Amino acid sequence: MSQKQHHTFQAEIQRVLDIVIHSLYTDREIFLRELVSNAADALEKLRFYQTSGQPLFQPELPLEINLTADDKERTLVIADAGIGMTRDELVENLGTIAHSGSKAFLQKLAEAKEKPALNLIGQFGVGFYSAFMVASKVEVFTRSYQPDESGWLWTSDGAGGYEIEAAADVPRGTRIVLHLKEDAKEFSENWQVQNIIKRYSSFVPFPIKLNGSAINTVQALWTRSKAEIKDEEYKEFYEFIGHDPEPPLARLHFTADAPLALQALLFVPSRNMETMGIGKAESEVNLHCRKILIQAKAKELFPDWLRFLKGVVDSEDLPLNISREAMQDSALMKKLNRVLTGRIIKFLAELSDKEPETYAKIYAAHGRFLKEGAITDFEHREGLAKLLRFESSMTPRGQTTSLVDYVTRMKEGQKEIYHLGGPNRDAAEASPYFEACKELGYEVLFSYEPVDEFVFEHLREFQGKTLKPAEKADLKLEAKEGGLSEDDARQLSNFIKESLGDRVDEVRTSHRLVGSPAVVLDADEYTTASMRRILKAMKQEGDAKASKLHLEINPRHPVILGLSQLRQANAPLAAKVAEQLFDNARLGAGLLEDPQTLLRRMNELLEHLVTPRP
Ligand code: ADP
Ligand code: MG
Repeated sequence: MSQKQHHTFQAEIQRVLDIVIHSLYTDREIFLRELVSNAADALEKLRFYQTSGQPLFQPELPLEINLTADDKERTLVIADAGIGMTRDELVENLGTIAHSGSKAFLQKLAEAKEKPALNLIGQFGVGFYSAFMVASKVEVFTRSYQPDESGWLWTSDGAGGYEIEAAADVPRGTRIVLHLKEDAKEFSENWQVQNIIKRYSSFVPFPIKLNGSAINTVQALWTRSKAEIKDEEYKEFYEFIGHDPEPPLARLHFTADAPLALQALLFVPSRNMETMGIGKAESEVNLHCRKILIQAKAKELFPDWLRFLKGVVDSEDLPLNISREAMQDSALMKKLNRVLTGRIIKFLAELSDKEPETYAKIYAAHGRFLKEGAITDFEHREGLAKLLRFESSMTPRGQTTSLVDYVTRMKEGQKEIYHLGGPNRDAAEASPYFEACKELGYEVLFSYEPVDEFVFEHLREFQGKTLKPAEKADLKLEAKEGGLSEDDARQLSNFIKESLGDRVDEVRTSHRLVGSPAVVLDADEYTTASMRRILKAMKQEGDAKASKLHLEINPRHPVILGLSQLRQANAPLAAKVAEQLFDNARLGAGLLEDPQTLLRRMNELLEHLVTPRP
């Protein structure tokens, strides 16, 4: 029995090996992740037998993983005191395809048909066999945990099958010796191995020692119960995974069982480089499976608009035989994505209730991402709408309201939610578009950023109430004494239309103006003046003349009353005044590009004013 015995690999295994050996790829460092996670699995199983009281060989051995990197010998050794393998298990586990990892790899290869995509290996991790990416010869010394077993040595170069022979003095567990290929020398260098372990295996729940010193010092905090974790530990953890010296604004640590078992520890950073105008942010949430990194910066884990988050998601309750590649299954990712997104929105909503000041800080730092979500994420639109905040005609300067609160304040008879864009509060409050709402006591949300216009446009409604630009509001103020008669108003409108010609689409009487003589409205039902301005700035529309405008006149305003009389007394002068009114209204709406014509005419009118009349 102590004779060396030669075995051939199962045909499928040999195929995997041929690909592994003969391909060149960039991320072959993942071999170490695979071997370390196998070691961790073996230790995990041992711990299970230990707690279930089974008799163990060498029960005193510490449960740890020991790496030895020797760049002189060009070897890397990965040793664990886990369950080890019997002779039969060696044949079964390392010589056949019974286990899932490589099987899924082959399936994907078959689907791909073409030459094996090189990154497939990195993506899948072909488990134990990935050792042959870097090693020309692999030795596996192993000794099962069962007291009456003995030690074995498995050896292979990956090409001509493998050998098994008895080995003396093998401690419990498995010790894998990699004789590195010449071009893989780096993996016998201390610093290189340390980097790789830090990247992929920082949270393995057993000590990992490299040439004697522990290198994984950070705990997988997300797997522990919240009640036991000190703030200081959270802080340390965040610094480690967030690479951020500033403490986060908030954290969400939660566990879910349905529809998916998952643990997540997520942070809202205090700032975001993208908000500061430096490039597009990348999600910094890593996906783990039972503490082993599956994907750093896992993009599909969250919708794009949540890219300001940092943290860890771990779906650990997967059966042992489902391996990492299953995590890349997109249906599973979509499910994770939906669960996580819903949870984050709920978290932010609760936070805004309980800690409004914290929420205000989050909104200041990351509000633009929420707005982006409101525009792009149809599925979570309703939830996102509740997270938005705006200044309004009823909030003190600098303070904001939610749409939910707005709705509770709506006046009887008010059917719509009104909003108005402008460069700042003063401008919004002075806007002629605000006059009717103000007169009726209807609250108006003020928005100062171009993106807000798109947000309102995409939301369309909230809790069954239409979101309406104030300037499009169909509001009628009660007729007051002293205005033009309907007939006079109509005749004046016709006169102004004739004076302005094609520049205006329609001139009509307004029932919404109080202090302004006239106002322009975009002829398009949905486009507001400020939206028109934004589109122009984005060069999506032709020049202002291309957009059709309506002019509304205030039949009670002294200028309009006077103009009605001037029309009969001095038509050329009245026409000039009409033009000036129109330009003033466009100027007020931010739609006047060239002030020169306006200024020249204004000076003519001044001249007329100051010229002594006989
Ligand atoms: P997977 O981990 O997906 O099962 P691998 O190719 O990584 O696939 O490993 C194959 C099998 O070899 C494992 O399932 C395990 O039974 C056995 N094995 C690998 N490494 C060890 C180890 N360090 N200790 C004990 N058993 C191991
Ligand atoms: Mg494995």
